[in-house]
Amino acid sequence: MLLENKVCVITGAASPRGIGRNTAELFHKHGAYVAILDLNQAQSEEAARAVGERAFGVACDVTDKASCEKAVAAVLEKFGRIDVLLNNAGITQPLKTLEITPENYEQVTDVSLRGMLYMSQAVLPQMVSQNSGSIVNTSSVSAQRGGGIFGGPHYSAAKAGMLGLGKAMAREFGGHNIRINSVTPGLILTDITGGKLTPEMKEKILTTIPLNRLGAAEDVSKAFLFLASDLSSYITGATIDVNGGMHIY
Ligand code: NAD
Repeated sequence: MLLENKVCVITGAASPRGIGRNTAELFHKHGAYVAILDLNQAQSEEAARAVGERAFGVACDVTDKASCEKAVAAVLEKFGRIDVLLNNAGITQPLKTLEITPENYEQVTDVSLRGMLYMSQAVLPQMVSQNSGSIVNTSSVSAQRGGGIFGGPHYSAAKAGMLGLGKAMAREFGGHNIRINSVTPGLILTDITGGKLTPEMKEKILTTIPLNRLGAAEDVSKAFLFLASDLSSYITGATIDVNGGMHIY
């Protein structure tokens, strides 16, 4: 039990085959109280019911500051504290540079990067008052190797922005015993690609992965467990690669 009685907030955790949902299940197995935040209230509640008795579903659009504040207030009312925030909500679009419209840019950067800022702003005062906390951010290997997998350049930019924001916040809040780290997954089999990742694309990507398989949601959630728990007590401002060796540098 690595997270016994810890209160963990996970954004983008309702999607049944998603990384966030898998992490909610793993954290719950490790004794955590889990708040599942996602766009739709009914889907968040349904996910919470499936995860277990210590899970709680709340609607939250991470691109909307007031919505983040409202969701965090609901979590605090329910559980009384917040030990872990996992900034996991994200969307992607397979576009090329010249195809990206202002709307595309806002959609993709708003969910990952603006959402990370707003959710962190919503939980940090509580973590400061507790003098403890762990924030983990779901970036992507696309931030490090310049995309080339599925998401467009705006996705790479949003995920690279998360790394910079996370490092700067780690520096700022270390004195409050709050650790802030990021994970950069490679290609993980979830529904984020909306069925647009063809078997041929998967086959081609597979040839670039030394561990010779595409990633599963639990490959990422285990890294989140490490960063959320005291196993990583002296790690902050770090980036942990979970990519099967797709990007070694
Ligand atoms: P997913 O589509 O299964 O899950 C994403 C979740 O985010 C969904 O439940 C969705 O409803 C939610 N969401 C979208 N917009 C939101 C908003 N504005 N507010 C709140 N929730 C919102 O996808 P996934 O693959 O599990 O992705 C999880 C994270 O991992 C994302 O940040 C993604 O960019 C990142 N990631 C995924 C991969 C991959 O290959 N699957 C690789 C690297 C990084």
